Amino acid sequence: MKIKYYGTRGSIPTPGPTTVKYGGNTSCVSIKSGEDYIILDAGSGLRQLGLDLMQKGFFEGKGKCSFFFSHVHWDHIQGIPFFLPAYIKGNNFNLYGTPNVHTTLEDVMAHQQHYLNFPVEFKEMPATFNFCDLKDGETVTIGDTTITNKKLNHPGGVFAYRVEQGGKSMVYATDTEHYSVLDWRLVDLCKEADLLIYDCNFTPEEYRDKRRIGWGHSTYEEGIKIVKEAGVKQFHLFHHDPLHSDDFLEEEILKPSQKLFKNSHLAKEGWEFEI
Ligand SMILES: [Zn+2]
Ligand SMILES: [Zn+2]
Repeated sequence: MKIKYYGTRGSIPTPGPTTVKYGGNTSCVSIKSGEDYIILDAGSGLRQLGLDLMQKGFFEGKGKCSFFFSHVHWDHIQGIPFFLPAYIKGNNFNLYGTPNVHTTLEDVMAHQQHYLNFPVEFKEMPATFNFCDLKDGETVTIGDTTITNKKLNHPGGVFAYRVEQGGKSMVYATDTEHYSVLDWRLVDLCKEADLLIYDCNFTPEEYRDKRRIGWGHSTYEEGIKIVKEAGVKQFHLFHHDPLHSDDFLEEEILKPSQKLFKNSHLAKEGWEFEI
């Protein structure tokens, strides 16, 4: 399974000299599936992925890929208006996600591109978009890949996804809060996975500040509890806080994480790897 990080930051794009190494773009991860792509979240990292896809069949309007949205907070959808393949007729996109409390995925996309906020409305984009609302626990098969979701803890709701392909498996669990007990829904989803990409927005010390409880985020310490319980082989720290510089991530998050679980790595924008 070939995976590439296009955006690893949480909350808001954070460019600048202190985030050059691990990246400032918000959540976007691509997985190759045959000739197609599966895209996990459409944060600002999607812009670069769109440029890369234009080098392939998307320039001629022959591209096809599937988006799976963890949820629709801004940092997970804001790349769509700047996704160049969406402006070419013939390209075809399936958008999978959870209907939010009051609205559908399609409405959320339309609202994001309200004329007052962006000059091109979503329905004016020439590519074809097919919306697919998922139920909790549903499995979708796309070519050689299966994607199973599980609803976790986050304001407004969030899905984690387990992606399986050619005997390999990865779980993408961003924007999830652990609270005081182990989240057995996530342990089940992660069983024997080759990789867990997990929300490590806070350090354990930051999370102990009671004001952050209920924000919907987690720590490497809690992620590693899941890794050990579920027998996961590799752990990637994801959704870096905008306040955390490259140095801070290495010293205060990666080092202590590797002490607890050696095969821990910081998700890094532009990093392409195979599991
Ligand atoms: Zn987020
Ligand atoms: Zn969120």
